[in-house]
Amino acid sequence: MGLTGIQIFKLLPKTNCKECGVPTCLAFAMNLASGKAELDSCPYVSDEAREQLAEASAPPIRPVAIGAGVRAFKTGGETVMFRHEKTFYNPTGIAAMVNSDMDSKALEKKLKEWNALQYERVGLNLRPELVALKDVNGDKATFAAAAKKIAEESEFGLILMSDNVDALKAAIEPTAFKKPLLYAATNETADDMGNLAKEKGLPLAVKADSVENLSALTDKLTGMGLKDLVLDSGSRETKQVFEDQVLIRRAALKGANRSLGFPTITFPCEMAANLDTETVIAAMLIAKYAGIVVLSDFRGDSLFPLLLERLNIFTDPQRPMTVTQGIYEIGDPDKDSPVLVTSNFSLTYFIVSGEIEGSRVPSWLLIMDTEGLSVMTAWAAGKFSGDAVGMFVKKCGIADKIAHKKIIIPGYAAAISGEMEEELPDWEVMIGPRDGSLIPKFLKDMAK
Ligand code: SF4
Repeated sequence: MGLTGIQIFKLLPKTNCKECGVPTCLAFAMNLASGKAELDSCPYVSDEAREQLAEASAPPIRPVAIGAGVRAFKTGGETVMFRHEKTFYNPTGIAAMVNSDMDSKALEKKLKEWNALQYERVGLNLRPELVALKDVNGDKATFAAAAKKIAEESEFGLILMSDNVDALKAAIEPTAFKKPLLYAATNETADDMGNLAKEKGLPLAVKADSVENLSALTDKLTGMGLKDLVLDSGSRETKQVFEDQVLIRRAALKGANRSLGFPTITFPCEMAANLDTETVIAAMLIAKYAGIVVLSDFRGDSLFPLLLERLNIFTDPQRPMTVTQGIYEIGDPDKDSPVLVTSNFSLTYFIVSGEIEGSRVPSWLLIMDTEGLSVMTAWAAGKFSGDAVGMFVKKCGIADKIAHKKIIIPGYAAAISGEMEEELPDWEVMIGPRDGSLIPKFLKDMAK
């Protein structure tokens, strides 16, 4: 994997011309090794050195971009086995499969239903990315028509699945703008599929019957000049697929095996008899290294937990999840509605906003940026002090929306009330409950 600063230094011009923004080539090399500088900042690196450096600094698992538009995503690019070592970067893509012989109206209906499955959470839009279109009868016109429909009438990216190179060619024509993933090159079709993917500049899935054979196939395809590959180890048996995912990740990261340094695609839809079991398998595969999981359908009750799991797995564990600072309206509040303030730790936000919603007392909730710390931690770190909260209340603009001057602070931050009263002399600072579950009673009593 990566070169050390000294190894990089040996490949630099060593003129110390400072054009890269640091005083010496050695300093630049050190910055490059630690990821703080870009190679392009030095205009004098020879082509040969550039090639060596680019190769050495390439991620052990290649990031592969699939799709275009709002649902475009990248898979791969991971650098650690375990999330707590650093973070996982590119969330597993979630796909549902349709057959090419599906009636046009039924497909339209399906796409509409699937498109509606979007969820707002911590300021993010959670949704699946892909539709996998499977050529079930070798009819290239039908396959291409369905692909065109999905590409043009939905936001989804596409996986075009066919053994027939001509069918894939026909389907690529109207869908190339969506940058579909082609599935899949096998031992028998590697040359044709490889040439097609290369000519069209599209990512290509590679399927073999074992990890060893996969390795040989990717070597062949990379030898043809292909770079964006996605691996299918072929097994549709849960234990084997799990083992393959771990083996591939380990080989790429620990064994520096470039032949397996690509994201993977998995098919829970071909491993279970119903969507519930598929969902359980997909949940395991999202946690254990799958680059893409393909389900047989999207249904809210199975998709939502997967999207949430994915969000959690692919969130940087060193950075708490936050909600954007601002004024949040809960239940259509008016000028007489109560005002509460709390920290921007997402869990705090969800608990407090959920309890306010449950109380059915329309309220204003002020979320203050505490860098993702909970109320008590933020208070202890001086980020939820009376001065700071008072200043935030003044500046956030809530005074223009209400006809009273009462503010409710969290019970655990009662100690800041004095400072807040000094900062907000014409406001009444009220101490709310310590426990979120008591918020509804507190608000209802106030409303009386
Ligand atoms: Fe060295 Fe290149 Fe930086 Fe000049 S621009 S100091 S040659 S690394």
